[in-house]
Amino acid sequence: MLTVLQPVAPKWAAISDAANRAYDYIVESGNNPVRFNYPSGLLTKPGANTKLSKASPLPIWGLTLAPAGASGYQLCPWRSPECEAACLGITAGRSKFSNVQQARINKTRYLMEDPLNFYCELFHELQTRARRGGNYAMRWNVLSDIPIEAVCTRALNLPTVNYDYTKSYLRALASLSRKNYRLTLSYSGHNLEECLDYLDRGGNVAMVFRDIPSTWDRFRVVNGDESDARWTDPQGCIVGLKAKGNIKDSVFVMNRSRV
Ligand code: SF4
Repeated sequence: MLTVLQPVAPKWAAISDAANRAYDYIVESGNNPVRFNYPSGLLTKPGANTKLSKASPLPIWGLTLAPAGASGYQLCPWRSPECEAACLGITAGRSKFSNVQQARINKTRYLMEDPLNFYCELFHELQTRARRGGNYAMRWNVLSDIPIEAVCTRALNLPTVNYDYTKSYLRALASLSRKNYRLTLSYSGHNLEECLDYLDRGGNVAMVFRDIPSTWDRFRVVNGDESDARWTDPQGCIVGLKAKGNIKDSVFVMNRSRV
């Protein structure tokens, strides 16, 4: 009989401790990493990801790990069954990009199993990026939902702009009082009341539509497919994304108007 292993919950306290020690060693004390497992960098470069490379006032770098439990570790604690099933990273990995998916899995295991060296490399890369390239934006979760603000809040001092999407209402809510980390709450098909409350408080919500309207309910909708520069969005608006591929009938695909 086939045994299906459940993804392991990451040991966040130990990972956070390692990340903070890495920050002290690399950023505060000016050391280099002891070794480089990823000499060409851990981050996804602007241009390497179609979405991140679209029109943006700043180059966008991103950390692309394996989504949900694909690596054996659960990186999306607030996921819904529908988003997990439809998640681009998982879908892509099962079809034509399996080598890409394996690379994400390897990177995720590096983070989970050797967080001190992972964060030493990552913080060194972010510092080098700032020295060489000037201002840039950082998306900490291209295909995950890790609360970097809890893991190592000082990491948010490194890039010029930090932003993410999240399915956690509480993460999103707390971000409203932060100047250096912009979070867009994602509609999951199950969190409409939280999304409406977040919009009323001035937060932004990402919603997937079959056809993106210009307004939804009483809120303005901006086209999130034109750029991933979420920090430039007006406050209290919906970020409309067009449903692609086989997700058009999923519960998180919203009607053009509220019904
Ligand atoms: S929370 Fe986001 S990254 Fe995680 S499984 Fe859902 S859609 Fe994918």
